[in-house]
Amino acid sequence: TSKEREDIIYDVLEKVNLSKEYLKRYPHQLSGGQRQRVAIARALVTNPDFLIADEPVSALDVSVQAQILNLLTDLRQQLNLTILMISHDLSVVEYFSDRVAVMYLGKIMEVGLVEEVFKKPAHPYTKALLDSVPEPDVTHVKDAKPIEGDIPSPLNPPSGCVFRTRCPYAFDDCSKIVPNLINIKEGHQSACLLCKEKE
Ligand code: SF4
Repeated sequence: TSKEREDIIYDVLEKVNLSKEYLKRYPHQLSGGQRQRVAIARALVTNPDFLIADEPVSALDVSVQAQILNLLTDLRQQLNLTILMISHDLSVVEYFSDRVAVMYLGKIMEVGLVEEVFKKPAHPYTKALLDSVPEPDVTHVKDAKPIEGDIPSPLNPPSGCVFRTRCPYAFDDCSKIVPNLINIKEGHQSACLLCKEKE
């Protein structure tokens, strides 16, 4: 019935911390953060178990980013949701996620718990990504190896390891062998020929 539908909508608005009066507003009458809350409400209205959040905060101010990430964190716990978040922002990934899969040219380079991957990255691409994060303390000089060159076309990816044209550790076999994801530790996998498989 329309009453039941209304109740579902009010309930989902409450979940994203918006009052009923927002139902009467047009999109241009909402702030960026409010629009994002509406987008999350729309995704939640079908009562899903699994949500894909593609760059959910990239277009928002930093202060609003934190609000939306905290909202998603609360919803994840309250509704027992699994959220797959896609992001280019490493600080957002570190703050929000339990596990991370690092991708390059459409391939997974490394997978593991966020804490583990950020502290002990195993794949050269992950290391280079983490090295590229600016250091807030200007007196602290990083021993960083930034990634050089351009990303190749995904239509014509390099043979062997797709990262080899930019990898500072590349050697002959990297152009001939496609590295598989191997277990380097319980729950931590990397796709690099230099990584050693856990016995
Ligand atoms: Fe670098 Fe070779 Fe490892 Fe690829 S397989 S990440 S090119 S060392």
